[in-house]
Amino acid sequence: MGKPESSRRPLILVCNDDGINAPGIAALAAAMDALGEVYVVAPATEQSAVGHAITVRDPVRAYPRPFAVPSGEVPAYAVSGTPADCVKLAVNQLLPRRPDLVVSGINRGPNTAVNVIYSGTVSAATEAAILGIDAIAFSLCNWGARDYSAAAHYARQIARTVLAHGLPPGILLNVNIPDLPLEAIKGIAITRQARSRWEESFAERRDPYNQPYYWLTGRFVNLDDGDDTDLEAVEQGYVSITPLQHDLTAHAYRALLSQWNWQEAPHATESPATNGHERPSGDAAAQHARPRETGEPHG
Ligand code: MN
Repeated sequence: MGKPESSRRPLILVCNDDGINAPGIAALAAAMDALGEVYVVAPATEQSAVGHAITVRDPVRAYPRPFAVPSGEVPAYAVSGTPADCVKLAVNQLLPRRPDLVVSGINRGPNTAVNVIYSGTVSAATEAAILGIDAIAFSLCNWGARDYSAAAHYARQIARTVLAHGLPPGILLNVNIPDLPLEAIKGIAITRQARSRWEESFAERRDPYNQPYYWLTGRFVNLDDGDDTDLEAVEQGYVSITPLQHDLTAHAYRALLSQWNWQEAPHATESPATNGHERPSGDAAAQHARPRETGEPHG
């Protein structure tokens, strides 16, 4: 990771979750063409919202196929798996050497706020970060996006900057680009993930055998009025760059938790949680309130 050796062009792996035939990955591979030696390894079919799923019960196949970029053709594989599968397979089997940079996208639709958790686009970059490789996820903030040229311009600029600086271990960049003409984009903002959630609803329908089935829909709710969030930056016309880490530990909370009495949890009769938003108390909590067995002080 970090700066590539000067003797050779950086090797850049291009992945996505919309599938290898999506317009966004063509734009991203073309944008990377000038920066290094490009390989494309991407899902054969759309894998949006698969998160960090990996394939362990089925074989994963990689089908070589032509992939055109401005300088000619680059090696490419359509993979019968998820975005995280693609990165693992590429790094371990398909690439001639370890990549200097993994880029994912350009996704059709935003990966701001809580969507980061569901995103296959981000997960491809996360997988690279887990493997110790610099990685960037790119998303164009319009589900109906057609013109990827401004996003590709920023993707090249941001990838060039990351190649020059290198990222710290375990950190990846999540980039969200407003769907605006290049000249209308105001610049780059370094942001944090906005607090948000989806309010889900399921449409219930009947199949031809009169069995019910369900189709997830939902309404995105922004719970964050901060002016430094990814959502706000894109709303204001900036390209949002959020540094992410795959270590999900809530470090600031460890000290408080270590002060709780884990031996005698409160009993269920005092205040059972009923609203579905609180942790189970009482029996469930007591069940988990077992002494540590590792002997490690304070975790
Ligand atoms: Mn997608």
